[in-house]
Amino acid sequence: MKIKALKGFKDIVPGEVELWQYLEEKARRVFERFNFAEIRLPLLEETQLFARSIGEATDIVEKEMYTFVDKQVTLRPEATASLIRAYIEHGLYVQKPVQRLFTIGPMFRHERPQKGRLRQFHQMDVEVLGSQSPRVDSELIAMASLLFTELGINVSLELNSLGCPACRPKYRETLVAYVNERKDALCSDCQRRSETNPLRVLDCKVQACKEQIVDAPSILEHLCDDCSEHFNTVQDGLNQLGVKYTLNKFMVRGLDYYCRTTFEFITADLGAQAAVAAGGRYDGLIETLGGPKDSHGIGFAMGMERLVLLLEQQKTVVEPSGVDLFIAGIGEEGARLAYGLAHGLRAQGISIGMDHEGRSLKAQMKLANKDFAKFALIIGDSELESGVGVVKNMRDRDAGPQEVKLTVEAIAATIG
Ligand code: ATP
Ligand code: MG
Repeated sequence: MKIKALKGFKDIVPGEVELWQYLEEKARRVFERFNFAEIRLPLLEETQLFARSIGEATDIVEKEMYTFVDKQVTLRPEATASLIRAYIEHGLYVQKPVQRLFTIGPMFRHERPQKGRLRQFHQMDVEVLGSQSPRVDSELIAMASLLFTELGINVSLELNSLGCPACRPKYRETLVAYVNERKDALCSDCQRRSETNPLRVLDCKVQACKEQIVDAPSILEHLCDDCSEHFNTVQDGLNQLGVKYTLNKFMVRGLDYYCRTTFEFITADLGAQAAVAAGGRYDGLIETLGGPKDSHGIGFAMGMERLVLLLEQQKTVVEPSGVDLFIAGIGEEGARLAYGLAHGLRAQGISIGMDHEGRSLKAQMKLANKDFAKFALIIGDSELESGVGVVKNMRDRDAGPQEVKLTVEAIAATIG
């Protein structure tokens, strides 16, 4: 019986993994420059954590979570809730008034797998906890934008504000009145949403619904003074830092906890899976989850599958680094000497490829090529006798062979 990976769950094999490492490395360097520290979080959490933070009437909680019903635990569908749980649990706000944290890893959502949409997918998640400064919003967005630039990925930025508990309820009423007038023309999901989560009607993907809401009232015209000032300062910051954006009054995001600034980075190159990163401010969430009163936070998540697809499409090539040296030991004695030298050289920090199956010289040289070896060294009868071998440069054909004494020190010096 052949067992395959589950639908929507993917292996990332050598040959593919290099691009993932490249992406992650680039991101880590950028996050470091902006003074973010890494936090590593568990994959499994109490179901309540997600139900309470993401919101009961959201796609994620209603239909996408992998929950072990008998244990009341859920594989995390996103990282923000877990990160805030950890922030509260470890009293991180006591250690430092503003925490700047990032985490990278797999998330789980039970949705229909497609290109750029998996059931286990990976996010790079960045959060600033403990600041309500609009400067933080624009700084964070500018950081994401800088990472896209450094990756050579072309995206556009859409921006909105969702107001706050002071101004959103009134807007919600206006919107519900507007939606109710058109309810019969909406899809069944939106008819239900109009009662449970009316803002979600605004980002319905069904064409009929899109047509109905073109003239829907805009939240941006209903912001209270504080939200309005915050949003203006965010835009000033983006302008100052040279980040281009467009306002999208229909962008409401799929999670309940957002308030004020929300944003998405969109690509035109991946069909329906257009969002490559998304985030926003969630000022009430920390308190809801039992943290200190009046806490503030903002963050975003980048979808790594989609970024890797874009890197592939634009033909970003990351060469496998390959081993420094392949040692081909021929015959029992040659293999024995190669075995000892390999370990000595590895201990010196040199990467070594070798064969343990007694293969022929020709077969071993093929392996050296598969290992992308920079140098090769053959140890057969004549080398054993003379104690001297020849190091061949596998990358530079013009570089001639170099004689070397068969000791760890001499080999290390020759190829170092
Ligand atoms: P979408 O509208 O594509 O479903 P979302 O709003 O559900 O996205 P978020 O929860 O905001 O996504 O997650 C942030 C990012 O994570 C998305 O912009 C996307 O790049 C990525 N992402 C989300 N769900 C998936 C998935 N199932 N497979 C791959 N990437 C995903
Ligand atoms: Mg989704």
